[in-house]
Amino acid sequence: MRELPDFEIYSPSSLRDLLEYLHGDGRDATIIANGTDLLPRIRRGELRPRRLVDISGVRELRYIREEGGVIKIGALTTISDLAGSHLLSHSRYEAFHVLSRMFGTWEIRNRATVGGNLGAAASSEDLIPIFLALDARVRLLSLGGERVLRVDELVVAKRRTSRRGDEVIAEVSFKSLGEGEWSYFQKIGRRRTHIIALVSLASYLRLSPDGVIEDVRLAFNRVRGKIPERAWRTEEFLRDRRIDEEVISGAERVLESELRLTSDYRASYLYRTEVAKVFLRRALRHSRDMVLGGVESVAEA
Ligand SMILES: Cc1cc2nc3c(=O)[nH]c(=O)nc-3n(C[C@H](O)[C@H](O)[C@H](O)COP(=O)(O)OP(=O)(O)OC[C@H]3O[C@@H](n4cnc5c(N)ncnc54)[C@H](O)[C@@H]3O)c2cc1C
Repeated sequence: MRELPDFEIYSPSSLRDLLEYLHGDGRDATIIANGTDLLPRIRRGELRPRRLVDISGVRELRYIREEGGVIKIGALTTISDLAGSHLLSHSRYEAFHVLSRMFGTWEIRNRATVGGNLGAAASSEDLIPIFLALDARVRLLSLGGERVLRVDELVVAKRRTSRRGDEVIAEVSFKSLGEGEWSYFQKIGRRRTHIIALVSLASYLRLSPDGVIEDVRLAFNRVRGKIPERAWRTEEFLRDRRIDEEVISGAERVLESELRLTSDYRASYLYRTEVAKVFLRRALRHSRDMVLGGVESVAEA
C-alpha cells in the first residue's frame, strides 16, 4: 500500500472555529470527515491535497432530530447512527434499514458519515439516491450564512459538488414519513455486502387508501449520467395510477426508454437495464403491499 503524501492538517474543535478557518486560510483545504472515501483515494494517488481540515471533532454536526415534522441529520452522523435512531425505526423508513444492512462492513458503517457520502459525489454513494427519493434538502454553512440546496443542486457531476470552498455540508433534512408513505432501497453488486453497487434504486411512494399513487420519486444510481438521478418520466407515468400488473409493465417500458446506462468492466448496460426494471417492479409491489397491508414494525417488514 502506498504511503500517504505530506500535507498540512488543521483540526477545528467547534463549528465556529471550522467556519472561520474555511473563511480564511482554509478556503482551498480539502475537508476530511472520517476519511473512508478520501484516504483510499489519496493513497491511490487520485488526489494530492496540500491541506486537509479534519472536521471529525466538530461534535455539533452529529445529531438526528425531528422538528416540526422534518427529520434533520447532522453531517457527521454515521451509518450506524442512522441504523440505531429511534426516529428512523418505523418500517416506513425501510430505505435506511436496508442501507445499513448492505453498507460496507460494520467498521465502515461506524465511520462513514452522511456528509462524506454526499461530498464524495459518486454513483457508488448509497445515501445520494435515498436522499433524492426523499426530496431532501442539504444545508451548507459558511461564516456568511447558509445555503439550502436540493441534492441534485449539490451533486452536479461525478466527483463534483457545488459547495464553495468556504462552506461545509452541515445538515440534510426531509419531511418525516406518515400514513400511506413508504421508502425503500435496493442495490446489487457482486457480493451481498461490502460492494460497489452495479445498480441501485431508492424509492419513495405515497399511496391513497385504495392504492393510487399520489406521489412517487425514483432515484437510480445511474439514469443518464454517472451520478444518482431521478427517473422523472417513469415517475410522471406512475403518478395518479393504481399499482397493478399492467401499470407495472407500462412503467418498465417507460423506464427502459428513459435509461441511458453504459457498460463498463463491472457490468453491461443490458444487464443493468434488466436489473433496474426488476428493482422498479419490486419497489412498486413491495411498497403497495407494505402500505396497504399496514405493516407496523421492522420485524414484520
Ligand atoms: C471498504 C469500504 C466499503 C464502503 N462501502 C460503501 C457502501 O456500501 N456504500 C456507500 O455509499 N459507500 C461506501 N463506502 C464509501 C464511504 O464509506 C462513504 O462514502 C462514506 O459515507 C464517506 O464518509 P466519510 O466520513 O468517510 O467521508 P470522507 O472520506 O472523510 O470524505 C468524503 C468526501 O466528502 C467530503 N466531505 C466529507 N464531509 C464533508 C462535509 N461535512 N462537508 C463538505 N464536504 C465533505 C470530503 O472532502 C471528501 O471529498 C465504502 C468505503 C470503504 C473503504
